[in-house]
Amino acid sequence: MQLDLTGRVAIVTGASRGIGRAIAEALAASGAAVVVNYRGSEAAAAEVVETITAKGGKALAVQADVADAASHEALLKATTEAFGRVDILVNNAGITRDNLLLRMKESEVDDVLQTNLRGVMLLTKAVLRPMMKNKWGRVITISSVIGLTGNAGQANYAAAKAGLIGFSKSVAQEMASRGITANAICPGFIETDMTRNAMSEELINKALDRIPLARMGQPAEIANAVVFLASDAAGYITGQTLAVDGGMTMY
Ligand code: NAD
Repeated sequence: MQLDLTGRVAIVTGASRGIGRAIAEALAASGAAVVVNYRGSEAAAAEVVETITAKGGKALAVQADVADAASHEALLKATTEAFGRVDILVNNAGITRDNLLLRMKESEVDDVLQTNLRGVMLLTKAVLRPMMKNKWGRVITISSVIGLTGNAGQANYAAAKAGLIGFSKSVAQEMASRGITANAICPGFIETDMTRNAMSEELINKALDRIPLARMGQPAEIANAVVFLASDAAGYITGQTLAVDGGMTMY
């Protein structure tokens, strides 16, 4: 199976920590040159770049706010200036602003949709043009099991993540003739700052009860799926939604 990404150039959004960091490190370990996008955490992004380059990989940290379409062209320009092309986009950056819908503020709706859905759509649009020139591309979008099942207290997040699934399938249909595939990954309950900060011990145990594999997932387990979908081994897979969730959504 061909998982070697040597010669490929990837942008990973929100790659300074958590799942994005694991994805950036795994793509680089498979040979891709990686743009480690970050919004505010310059030092953390620099550390990811150092980790990758210390192992002989290629990486560059580039600041851009995914929610701000005005910064997308600069992200793309920095990528092509450094590495000459862009082959793989991993839409990973995401935020939560949890609240019950009846209490949810307009800003909590707007912030989540802006970053998790609108930003992804517009960044993907910008990155598709250079991919079309190369007649090869991979758009891998990190949705969530919450986009499949919904979740009390996360109507904004669920709507954005469900939206990403339809978005990814639409990109797959529009780009199939251009050699570009688009797939979505739905992580389940993954051990990162996002889950640690947002959940009490009691909530974590309740969530574990619903996972057949009976444990939280690790960021590297999402990264493994991304590497596969980015590789030539997945060349015949497009428009799909892959849950990496310990079996949480199998029933
Ligand atoms: P995290 O909060 O640890 O990391 C998210 C990263 O995205 C951070 O580095 C943050 O700075 C960055 N980011 C946020 N807004 C940004 C913006 N506007 N522009 C650029 N970067 C931005 O979260 P995580 O757990 O690593 O989640 C990564 C992705 O996986 C998210 O899309 C999340 O919704 C999704 N996900 C996570 C889980 C989980 O259990 N952790 C489950 C399902 C889906």
